[in-house]
Amino acid sequence: MGKRLDGKTIVVTGASSGIGRSTALEFARTSPKNLRLILTARRIDTLKEVAADIKKEVGEGVKVLPFKLDVSQPDEVRSFVGNLPEEWRDIDVLVNNAGLVKGVAKAPEIEEADVNVMFATNVTGLINMTQAVLAIFKKRPDGGAGDIINIGSIAGREPYQGGSIYCATKAAVRSFTDALRKELIATRIRVIEIDPGQVETEFSVVRFYGDKSKADAVYAGCEPLTPDDIAEVVVFTAGRRENVVVADTLIFPNHQA
Ligand code: NDP
Repeated sequence: MGKRLDGKTIVVTGASSGIGRSTALEFARTSPKNLRLILTARRIDTLKEVAADIKKEVGEGVKVLPFKLDVSQPDEVRSFVGNLPEEWRDIDVLVNNAGLVKGVAKAPEIEEADVNVMFATNVTGLINMTQAVLAIFKKRPDGGAGDIINIGSIAGREPYQGGSIYCATKAAVRSFTDALRKELIATRIRVIEIDPGQVETEFSVVRFYGDKSKADAVYAGCEPLTPDDIAEVVVFTAGRRENVVVADTLIFPNHQA
């Protein structure tokens, strides 16, 4: 599998923590030869720490570019590819992982700002990133090849009370991904969705506006997945031979079944 990824240029959004950070590390571990990893998120200092962690673990074979990018800002996404150094622009794999949930509230009480940030990040940001990278795939002399890997959620399939907007954003990701896959069927562009269940990351800290004790309570009495559990699936999926599309994966901890 590692060989198939050798030499590829891979973008991971939301690589500063959780699933995105683990995914970047897992790509580096699996294919430490000439891989180019573009790590994006808003916290550039944290991205630099992730880059240092990767170098420490796998050495200098993998090239890592930490790149500050807020996917909820369409102008930043539009200029993203053009702002990359020339040798980093030939992207092969996009992992659309950046995402967040804000608040737990019944639908009538949800703050407008929270609705907007969830849609701008989880949906519009993912769509804008996809369009930007598809334009690169399609410019290839071979007629276009590459992988779009979208991190959805079990919440996009099974909405829960208090999470209506987050669930709606992930249902939107699912519909967008399915339609795009149909549009690109029989091309060399693979469109993939991976839907995690409960994973212990900074996700719930963000959900509760930084309140760590509330976030910890979410995982009390259960054993959530680790970010590595999801990262392994992402890298497995990207590492299949070109004719194999692991199109749609749901992965959750046993207690959540
Ligand atoms: P984390 O909070 O640990 O990571 C979220 C990442 O997204 C961070 O790196 C954050 O970086 C980045 N991010 C948030 N907003 C933006 C933005 N506007 N622009 C760029 N990057 C942004 O959570 P997870 O790792 O758990 O979440 C990753 C994905 O997995 C999300 O899409 C989430 O919806 C999904 N998921 C998570 C589950 C869970 O239980 N944890 C379950 C199902 C799905 P920064 O703050 O530096 O910008």
